Amino acid sequence: MSPKTFEDLITEVHDKGICQECGGCVSFCSSAEYDVIGFTKPNAPPEYINKDKCLECGICYVICPQTHYLHEELDTTYKSLDFHEMPIGHYDKIYSCQSKDSKFLEVGTDGGVVNSLINFLIEENIIDGAIVAKMESPFSRESAIAYNKEDLIKASGATLDISTQLNEVQKFSTYTHSIPKLNHYKFKKLAVVGTPCQIYTIRCMQALGVTPSQNIEVCLGLFCYENFFFEKAQIEKFQKDFNINLKQVEKINIKEDLIFKIHDEDNNKRTIHLPFNHLNDYMRTACNACSDFTNIYADISFGGLGSQDKFTTVIPRTEKGQKIFTKAKESDIFDCVDLGEAKQEKMRDLINNFAKNKIKRYLEFLKKMGIQDNYKLGRE
Ligand SMILES: Cc1cc2nc3c(=O)[nH]c(=O)nc-3n(C[C@H](O)[C@H](O)[C@H](O)COP(=O)(O)OP(=O)(O)OC[C@H]3O[C@@H](n4cnc5c(N)ncnc54)[C@H](O)[C@@H]3O)c2cc1C
Ligand code: SF4
Ligand code: SF4
Ligand code: SF4
Repeated sequence: MSPKTFEDLITEVHDKGICQECGGCVSFCSSAEYDVIGFTKPNAPPEYINKDKCLECGICYVICPQTHYLHEELDTTYKSLDFHEMPIGHYDKIYSCQSKDSKFLEVGTDGGVVNSLINFLIEENIIDGAIVAKMESPFSRESAIAYNKEDLIKASGATLDISTQLNEVQKFSTYTHSIPKLNHYKFKKLAVVGTPCQIYTIRCMQALGVTPSQNIEVCLGLFCYENFFFEKAQIEKFQKDFNINLKQVEKINIKEDLIFKIHDEDNNKRTIHLPFNHLNDYMRTACNACSDFTNIYADISFGGLGSQDKFTTVIPRTEKGQKIFTKAKESDIFDCVDLGEAKQEKMRDLINNFAKNKIKRYLEFLKKMGIQDNYKLGRE
């Protein structure tokens, strides 16, 4: 029997409305140099560009998070077989940390821990660089590679010259197509910062041993409840709905809700919290079809949820993740809160509840779309 191909992804994933637009198929297409498939429109699944160059190898089908082809294998490798009960995934201990580097802390989303760690890994020659996402405007990020501290700081989200950029931006998306960029950096030892859907496709490629996944030394996973997308026409509605002038946004963060730090022209500062369930009009539709909140296949996961302001929640998972994190901690680049057993448990329950809510939303979405739950999450 010939393998399933991108044609099958179109019928089984795209046409059913469950493509997560993670970019995995585009990034790891065996015939990538011919641009067989690619993203041609924003907020839409990839399409054939040069179909005649398709090798019909089936890689795109196997690595797609929505075919669940390698889920069992990954769940075994990353010890998350009881995902349904413990959607927080495999871990030993949860940490809450803050960068000791004042610049990373200043520009960091939470505690500046991710960028501090990447910088440490570069300095220790564990990696040559990292694929990160550079802030272009409050709702727009571009994938970028960082080779040093300066690049990392430039890629951070807090320092914005919003007013001019905003006028030029036509589409607003908090989602970055970082994974398709991987092919550009083939000869490097890289860290990749990514959302759960992105890290999933990388892990599939590593399981299959297909280039360029062997160059990915470390997967740094961000928590992700959902991502946002809207076109210029919706901006006015957004600003009106939530009484936010996007030109005054100093910083955006996502923890248990979407948080805007506003700094207006009269020098007044305020913080606005928008609950996820008020943001359905702006959420990427693709995110409804996603069940992983905490990035269970990452080497280390990071989020804001559970930690106080300016601290990052850190969950080392794999042996490599544990080793790297311990080495960084021992090198004194972070301040870590001493979380006793009770606080650990409280944090785990909070994160697990968010993760369970995401699974619930996923199952409801599948039901609405009349799709079978192949991942068998609705098995109680
Ligand atoms: C789209 C998105 C959704 C998130 N949702 C949640 C959530 O629901 N709950 C929660 O607790 N935390 C969420 N997070 C994680 C949280 O916002 C912080 O990124 C995390 O706590 C790390 O903070 P830090 O200060 O240690 O990272 P920093 O030191 O500031 O480093 C962050 C790194 O992430 C990279 N990056 C930023 N955006 C992206 C992107 N879109 N794709 C790939 N890389 C990116 C940056 O370039 C930088 O290298 C989300 C993050 C993102 C990007
Ligand atoms: S060449 Fe292989 S990976 Fe690329 S589109 Fe065709 S089947 Fe998919
Ligand atoms: S979910 Fe990702 S891998 Fe699957 S079709 Fe969509 S973009 Fe490609
Ligand atoms: S919720 Fe996050 S991880 Fe899931 S599809 Fe959306 S961007 Fe990807």
